[in-house]
Amino acid sequence: MSDAVNKEEHEKNDFIRHIIREDVANDKYEQIITRFPPEPNGYLHLGHVKSICLNFGIAKEFGGICNLRFDDTNPTAEKQDYIDNIKNDVKWLGFEWADKPYYASDYFDQLHEWAIKLIKQGDAYVDLQTPEQIRETRGSFNEPGKPSPQRDASVEDNLQRFDDMKNGKYAEGEAVLRAKIDMASPNMNMRDPVIYRVMKQAHHQTGDKWCIYPMYDYAHPLSDAIEGITHSICTLEFEDHRPFYDWAVEKVGAEGGIKYPPHQYEFSRLNVDHTMTSKRKLKQLVDEGIVTGWDDPRMPTIAGMRRRGYTPEGLRDFCERVGVTKSDSVVDFRLLEFSIRQSLENTTARGMAVLKPLKVTITNFEEALSEWESLKDEGVNARWDEAEKTLWINQPKHPNVDMGEREIPFTETIYIDQGDYELEPPKGYKRLSPEKSEIRLRNTYVLAVTEHVLDDAGNVVELKATIDKTTLGKNPEDRKVKGVIHWVSATKGVPATVRMYEHLFSAENPSAVPDLHDALNPNSLTVLEAVVEPSLANAEAGSRFQFEREGYFVADAEEHTADKPVFNQIVSLRDNYKPE
Ligand code: ATP
Ligand code: MG
Repeated sequence: MSDAVNKEEHEKNDFIRHIIREDVANDKYEQIITRFPPEPNGYLHLGHVKSICLNFGIAKEFGGICNLRFDDTNPTAEKQDYIDNIKNDVKWLGFEWADKPYYASDYFDQLHEWAIKLIKQGDAYVDLQTPEQIRETRGSFNEPGKPSPQRDASVEDNLQRFDDMKNGKYAEGEAVLRAKIDMASPNMNMRDPVIYRVMKQAHHQTGDKWCIYPMYDYAHPLSDAIEGITHSICTLEFEDHRPFYDWAVEKVGAEGGIKYPPHQYEFSRLNVDHTMTSKRKLKQLVDEGIVTGWDDPRMPTIAGMRRRGYTPEGLRDFCERVGVTKSDSVVDFRLLEFSIRQSLENTTARGMAVLKPLKVTITNFEEALSEWESLKDEGVNARWDEAEKTLWINQPKHPNVDMGEREIPFTETIYIDQGDYELEPPKGYKRLSPEKSEIRLRNTYVLAVTEHVLDDAGNVVELKATIDKTTLGKNPEDRKVKGVIHWVSATKGVPATVRMYEHLFSAENPSAVPDLHDALNPNSLTVLEAVVEPSLANAEAGSRFQFEREGYFVADAEEHTADKPVFNQIVSLRDNYKPE
């Protein structure tokens, strides 16, 4: 069975789509409406990618719509910059929200009116206890909570106090509005949860209009209701909040203008090994300067993954493979890399980059090149520049020749990778060593090392070699030469900064490490002074490549220029890992 078929089977069977399919079959709704509701208190991360793919994906599959709604009920932690980046990230992933972006703050007037309605119905009251008292009187799992002294205050008193809250007469922590439900409920979320609090804080959308703000648990179901959300899909930690979700929707009721009661469905959050998916902790890394910013290529943020060169196609494929369930699990990071790698294989141009350069002087270069044209293979397309003593060789950018060609300069001095010449080669080593002098240089001649030059410490610092002039694009007739290595012209190649990455966290489950710093991998970034062929240096910032034999790399979106190329490693070329 092909992967594609497998994936389809998977989609068909996830429990949320199963529910929706039934609802569609029963004509339960006019249209399926989902929402993605981030709080703009940080940048989106890999976990959000799963939620985005699920919510927007479902809307698309069922001919519905998905709203982007900012759950902006806590102005202290929120910023316009986060809003802008969240919008950008969702678009980059390939999704479109219906209409315009929505904000929970768009509904503050309505939510406030409904709070008054709840007070009038006897379903809410203003509590004047201190936050500590409220905490202490909530009780515990075995013990019911104690009612607040204000729990049975009159509607008039509550309306007056709530109005005073709104008018700034209470300081933060002096008064809250609580839903009046059940202080003995086995579900702690139903023990008269706080639904409004005083916060003397300007808001990024509503300015100074409010000094009371609704709590998330109150704003969320009602925002869903206002927008006519049919399926409110969230992560499992909200399962215990569902009774309150339903309570709020029911108490506001049809007369509040609610069209369909929205329903909440929970799925298990995405966890990936060596990865942290918590905006708060990622913010700590940014604030402490442990990473260069939210878009540091090591960050599991969408901005970071984009800068790292990950593709939207790869991320979407990853989410499809992960699927949607109710059971908690940790996904293998290599699956993510598998999806990314797969998305790059047929789409990225190839080029040669030497990451750890070792100089090679070709001692017979001029003599060998004097006959290049008569001895070359018919298939070789090249031109000789006499002034520059350079052979410019045309090569396709990819086995799929539709991607076009590039010109590779071949000169008297070149670089090969230090790892391709070993003084003491391990068993089975197929590249160059004192015992094995010959190898094919990719796209050009067969090279034979004649001498190595050592420094005082005994390290190889240069090779001298000759080329076999009869081998431009073809094999020698009298012998078999094993192995092919890549190379870059020492004079026409361009020095480049190449950043190699490992996991940002060495801990498999960084969230479980009490001090974040102890979970970090000190080797997460290695900066190499590499040399790349001109076609790579001339690439546009943000374009992705396969560096032959080295892996996939992206020209850094912020720093790359033709004069000072900067590349980030996206992912290695291969891995033994195979998804199930
Ligand atoms: P964080 O703790 O990182 O702030 P959050 O859940 O509080 O995460 P929100 O901005 O409130 O962040 O989340 C928006 C949506 O993304 C929610 O519906 C939430 O359930 C979902 N989401 C967040 N993290 C994950 C995850 N790891 N896997 C799947 N969905 C997630
Ligand atoms: Mg949150």
